[in-house]
Amino acid sequence: MNKDHIIIANWKMKLGINETIELAKKIKDKFKKIDKGEVVVCPNFVALMEVKKILNGGKIKLGGQTVFWENRGAYTGEISPDILAEAGCEYVIIGHSERRKYVLENYEMIHKKVKTVLGIDNLIPIVCVGEDAKERKTDRRDFVLVDQLQEAFGGLNILKNQQVIVAYEPIWAIGSGVAIEPSEAEYAHKIVRLALNDIFGMQTVDNNFRIIYGGSIDTKNVENFVDLENLDGVLVGGGSLDIDNFYKIAQAIIG
Ligand code: PEP
Repeated sequence: MNKDHIIIANWKMKLGINETIELAKKIKDKFKKIDKGEVVVCPNFVALMEVKKILNGGKIKLGGQTVFWENRGAYTGEISPDILAEAGCEYVIIGHSERRKYVLENYEMIHKKVKTVLGIDNLIPIVCVGEDAKERKTDRRDFVLVDQLQEAFGGLNILKNQQVIVAYEPIWAIGSGVAIEPSEAEYAHKIVRLALNDIFGMQTVDNNFRIIYGGSIDTKNVENFVDLENLDGVLVGGGSLDIDNFYKIAQAIIG
């Protein structure tokens, strides 16, 4: 099972099509020097096929920013797991807090998405969990994490060769410019691991899961995260939009 460190760029809706193409070309070129770990970029849907052509089956992988929970049908505007796979995606983000907030994705929807994606060969779900500022202040983080993981994964099976990524993304840290303290991330990642152990058993979690951190990772703070025992990579939003910054962050994580 692939347990390489991974860095995932979430470009959100921050780049137009031409800007996406430009950045993808720069990444393809600059990352030639990196031969360890895994790099994934998640462009907007409209730019996916163009980015696929640029990456051209190389070592930089493609991911979707979200997905629907059915593979075909009358679901206007949605994109299914198997369409994403057909478009060249090997990863897909599920349950990002911005989707929970702005399009009201709820526990049930996230669970259905995870279930459908797990049914598609070679499409790896990146399931986001994390507490908001109020939950943190009132010491409810651990409960929130356990609850979100149970709702997302409860009752599902992970096949022997299936890979899953859980991204711990404290909502208050996303886009704020202030990352979590690394020691606090390590603690939260342990909670995530224990909750997953409860659901799937330790062996499955050790073999099939990677736990990564997301929330204001930048060129300055990334060094403090690289040696954490329970960190298998990072999900980067703002820090992935500039090629030099993204390259520096990637070098620290996988270089
Ligand atoms: C994210 O939105 O997943 C994220 C990690 O964003 P940022 O790095 O900008 O905080």
